Amino acid sequence: MVVGEGEITTVAVLDALRRGEPLAAVAGIVLRAPDGSIRHTPRRRAAPIDSIADPDWELFDVQRYFQVTDSPSAFGVRDDGQIWRTMPVSTARGCVFHCSFCHIVFKHDPYRHRDVDAILDEVARCTERYGANYINFWDDLTFYKLAQAEKIVDGILASGLRFHWSAAVRTDLFGNPKIPHARRLEVARKFKEAGCLTLGYSLESGNPAILEMMQKHVAVEFFEEQVRILREVGIASNTSIVIGYPIETRETIRQTFDLCERNAIYPSVGFLLPLPDTGMYRYDREHGYIPDENAFLDSITERQDICLNMTQMSDAEILEEIQRGCGRLNEQLQLGLSEDRLIRTGGYRKHTRVEARPGAPTRPRRLSNSLSLNYSEQLFE
Ligand code: SF4
Repeated sequence: MVVGEGEITTVAVLDALRRGEPLAAVAGIVLRAPDGSIRHTPRRRAAPIDSIADPDWELFDVQRYFQVTDSPSAFGVRDDGQIWRTMPVSTARGCVFHCSFCHIVFKHDPYRHRDVDAILDEVARCTERYGANYINFWDDLTFYKLAQAEKIVDGILASGLRFHWSAAVRTDLFGNPKIPHARRLEVARKFKEAGCLTLGYSLESGNPAILEMMQKHVAVEFFEEQVRILREVGIASNTSIVIGYPIETRETIRQTFDLCERNAIYPSVGFLLPLPDTGMYRYDREHGYIPDENAFLDSITERQDICLNMTQMSDAEILEEIQRGCGRLNEQLQLGLSEDRLIRTGGYRKHTRVEARPGAPTRPRRLSNSLSLNYSEQLFE
């Protein structure tokens, strides 16, 4: 039987397997066969991005979301009594890079960008139909080159649409010294003019050897330069760090926080969480850090918990060093965060219960925060 002709159902696939026939033609199916083995057909190729339909928000009770997500702060940016109504719009899929800690769903597909007009049509629907005034361009990597970014930003400016927005970039967008400074500044000014309030990009680590192990392909200086340029044009920087590579020490953690201090920026702290199909997962399997994959995958929570400590430090030592760095930043930036809010490790566990059923693996179950349209203040203060 050649599955893939006519109507395909799970039953048809299972029947074919029962009869021992090959699953030949439908790519992208993974299932447990009747004999208990895991079977999969060839990987499915990515669809052309502009053939993918926009989300139909009519299927959701969006007003209920807005009751929760309308907020005076969008990614920490406040504006004189303004209430931000944020909606997500996806502009791209995948990423051009392969950082060793990062799991992206479209990793094996090419980086793809939507047509500018299609993006703007979707934005217009969000602003006109739902009253959104803040669009979160919700991508792994929204802009990876200045020319590509400028095309979209020029499109926003020409469209006459008035909204504010944030996007995901890398430190080499405005921080790469190979591109003339004046050119980088010119495009950054356009970003601001087109409504950009904040950009998310990651420092990850202040230690060059760790950056190399991460395969980030950026230098520490890129980060500092990008912070400077964005500050000059009035765009806020949101950054995160990843602690816990095997060569991490107290000294490298200090280096990372020193860099944050020099640039007056408070990071979102996360720990290395090796996920399947990432470089670090392969490394950990090869080096014996994950002897039992099933047990490991059942045990992990999220990046704000230390799920696997590969350093020579204890968990307590790592947390102590981070607490010290965050504490100094808290003072420097006069944030007024209480001791227990400096780092949010354990966040997932606080709203998750691990359910143990006799004879079944333990499963985390979310107790709260099951309603969330975007990563706005309600979830991450
Ligand atoms: S961390 Fe960012 S740049 Fe690196 S692979 Fe993931 S999405 Fe791409």
